[in-house]
Amino acid sequence: MNKIAHIIGAGISGLSAGVRLANAGYTVHVHEATQQLGGRCRSYYDAATDLVIDNGNHLLLSANHHVLAYARVIGSEAGLVGPKDAQFAFVDIRTGQRWLLDLGSGRLPLWVFDESRRVPDTTLGDYLALSPLIWAGTAKTIGDTIPCKGTLYDRLVQPLLLAALNCDPPEGSAGLAGAIVRETLLAGGQACRPLIARDGLSGVLIDPAVKFLEGKGGSVRIGRELRSLDQAAGRVTGLRFGGDETVALGPDDVVVLAVPPRPAMALLPGLTGPTKFRAIVNAHFRITPPKG
Ligand SMILES: Cc1cc2nc3c(=O)[nH]c(=O)nc-3n(C[C@H](O)[C@H](O)[C@H](O)COP(=O)(O)OP(=O)(O)OC[C@H]3O[C@@H](n4cnc5c(N)ncnc54)[C@H](O)[C@@H]3O)c2cc1C
Repeated sequence: MNKIAHIIGAGISGLSAGVRLANAGYTVHVHEATQQLGGRCRSYYDAATDLVIDNGNHLLLSANHHVLAYARVIGSEAGLVGPKDAQFAFVDIRTGQRWLLDLGSGRLPLWVFDESRRVPDTTLGDYLALSPLIWAGTAKTIGDTIPCKGTLYDRLVQPLLLAALNCDPPEGSAGLAGAIVRETLLAGGQACRPLIARDGLSGVLIDPAVKFLEGKGGSVRIGRELRSLDQAAGRVTGLRFGGDETVALGPDDVVVLAVPPRPAMALLPGLTGPTKFRAIVNAHFRITPPKG
C-alpha cells in the first residue's frame, strides 16, 4: 500500500523533508496554516516599493551542501548564484576604513598566515585565540569561550556571528558558533563563496519544491492549521485541522512537525524547546542601481 507522509508547515524545513520523503517513495501532503508558502524564507509583493521582494536577505555560503543538494533535486540549483571568489568588502562606518577580506579558493584558511590578507591590525595570535570555539559544547556561550573584544572581534567575529546567530554574540551558543567556524572559515575559501537566490527565495527554494511534490502525486495546501494530534498507544493516529477537518492515519503513515518551537510545544505537550527569541528587523527600499 502507498505510504503517506503528512508534513505540518510549508517552511523550508517542511518542504525539504517532503522532498526527501517523496524521493523515498512516500506520497507527501504538506499542510500550511497561513495563506502563503515558505514561512520565514519567501518572497512577496510589496506595494510600497512595487516590487516582489524577499522577506529578508538570505545569504547562503557554498559550504551549505544540504541546501545545494535540495536545490539540485528540485531543479533550481542554477538559481543560486554568487561571485566565483570568496571575497568580502568591509567598511568600518566609525572610521571610514575599508578593506577586502579575500579567503582564497582552497580548502585551508591559509590567508590567516599572510599579514597582507588578514583583517587590518590583527595578528596570527588573535586567530589562534579563537580555537576554543572550534570544539565548544552547546551548553557554553560564546562569551564564556573566547575573548569578545579587540580588533579581530570588532572587525570580523562580531559581524559574522551576529549575522549567523541573530543574537549578540557573547550570549550566543558556542556550539553553534563553533559549527559555523568549522564548516566555513576553517574549511577555506571554497566553503565561503556567498550565494543568493537570483529569482527570489520563493522562485528558487519554494515554488520549485511545490511543483516537485505535486509532480510526484503529493499536495501542498494553505489555510490548513493543525490544531491537535490524536494519539493512541504512543503513536499519532489522526490529525485535526481548523474547520473541524480530520485526517485518519494508516499504520505506515508518518507525520513530520516542521513548525517553530512555540506551535510544536503547543501541539505536543511535554516537548521542551527554546522560550526566548530575538526579532530580526528588516528595512526595504528601492533604488536605481548606479552604473556598473
Ligand atoms: C529576515 C530573515 C533573514 C534570514 N536570513 C538567513 C540567512 O541569511 N541564512 C539562513 O540560513 N537563514 C536565514 N534566516 C533563517 C531562515 O529563514 C529560517 O531558519 C528558516 O526559514 C526556518 O524554516 P522552518 O521551515 O524551520 O520554519 P518556518 O519558516 O517558520 O516555517 C514553519 C511553517 O509552519 C507553519 N505552521 C506553524 N504552525 C502550524 C500549524 N499548527 N499547522 C500548519 N502549519 C503551521 C508556519 O506558518 C510556517 O509557514 C533568516 C530569517 C529571516 C526572518
